[in-house]
Amino acid sequence: MSDVSRRLFMQAAGISAVAAGIHAAPARAAAQNEVGIKVIASGNGAEATRKAYEMIQAGEDPLDAVVAGVAIVEDDPLDTSVGYGGLPNERGIVELDAAVMHGPTHKAGSVASLQNIRHPAQVALQVLRRTDHVLLVGAGALDFARAHGFQEENLLTDHARKIWLKWKETMSEKDDWLPDPNEDPGVAQFFHEHSIALTDSLARRFRRPTGTIHCSAINAKGDISCTTTTSGLAFKIPGRVGDSPIIGAGLYADNTVGSCGSTGRGEANLQNLSSFAGVELMRNGASPEEAGMEVLRRIVKTTEPRLKDKEGRPDFGLSFYLISKDGRYAGVTLWGPEKYAISDANGTRLEDCKYLYRKP
Ligand code: ASP
Repeated sequence: MSDVSRRLFMQAAGISAVAAGIHAAPARAAAQNEVGIKVIASGNGAEATRKAYEMIQAGEDPLDAVVAGVAIVEDDPLDTSVGYGGLPNERGIVELDAAVMHGPTHKAGSVASLQNIRHPAQVALQVLRRTDHVLLVGAGALDFARAHGFQEENLLTDHARKIWLKWKETMSEKDDWLPDPNEDPGVAQFFHEHSIALTDSLARRFRRPTGTIHCSAINAKGDISCTTTTSGLAFKIPGRVGDSPIIGAGLYADNTVGSCGSTGRGEANLQNLSSFAGVELMRNGASPEEAGMEVLRRIVKTTEPRLKDKEGRPDFGLSFYLISKDGRYAGVTLWGPEKYAISDANGTRLEDCKYLYRKP
């Protein structure tokens, strides 16, 4: 891109060179030098980044490493946003979405509305490696997983079932479902944690739980890969597919630039192709943090009034995790404080996301 078109792009994106944190020839300079291994993930992914870091250190491809890393969270029955133990759709059936993207080959694989398989990111990896396609959905994705030896199982834990049942029983007073008078304390606690105080009144209201894990990695040579895996929006309409399995929305990697992935309200990323936008902003000179913040500002602008509070702020959560080719990284979120996970030569830790708004 010429200097002029680059400047025009920056103006169109609404960011100045200073605000974008441009450093001299960022991506090109880094490509020639070794960058340290970096693995980042959403705040629920510290074990995933640790595992992926160790595998990359042992010489594994970053894509295999991030898929193995997120499998820890897919296996975790206590994480109600991913894999086994994920919250179900409105009929009580767990439907999973996941995708992978491999920087060096620019190949991608994904699955959507997959039932009964606890490691959808691994199925997505097989779509990438063993098909000429990118996205398989529903029954076709399940057939494909079976063909590759994945075992079917019931993914709905008792905990997730009880949370779903309470949601169903308390949705309306006009139906025949009555809430449990002896409520499970774990379920009550879950609803308490997912209630938000409305900013314009003292009332609290249940906020539909979101969650997901995104994990991105760069190795010492600067090769980048990423994955996003989720049970999606809790109690969704059956067949609803979020951003996580959509390349460019829930994740994107360009081996010459960097990667970006997301957790939170998928519809916002589908409408804004946010992860692609994050990588394109970095291509044009923005730092990972500025690229992520700019995507958040764009989303604020395009959010419909129904989803905004009185001060014009989106009433949902959304976060991005970005790595640039030269090894810089960032986590950004609409509502902070919030943490993201990072593993590098200094170990595994949680760092603060930069945020647009402070949680009430
Ligand atoms: N992004 C996911 C989806 O919309 C959910 C989430 O991250 O909470 O399906």
